[in-house]
Amino acid sequence: MSQQQMNLNISLDKTKEVTCEKCGNNVFIEGMLLRKASRLLTGTSQDALIPITVFACSKCGNVNDEFLPFQLKQQTNEIEEIEVEEKNEGKIIKF
Ligand SMILES: [Zn+2]
Repeated sequence: MSQQQMNLNISLDKTKEVTCEKCGNNVFIEGMLLRKASRLLTGTSQDALIPITVFACSKCGNVNDEFLPFQLKQQTNEIEEIEVEEKNEGKIIKF
């Protein structure tokens, strides 16, 4: 992961630090979500396990919403999601 980032032609001072939404820690460890697909859905003889790689806070274990796959994110609050997207574009919106 970090090697891939180094190969990008982007100055790191132009990037934004990602911190844990719960405790503010900036170190993450790789973890795995497992989703189970019913055999009725897959048409196989057994339920299928689908691993999804995510990053979890190394201190409190929290997984930020932004690390979740899009389809899982939709289960969370939609308004929060829109706010995050706008922040990523660097817009300041005043009401
Ligand atoms: Zn944390």
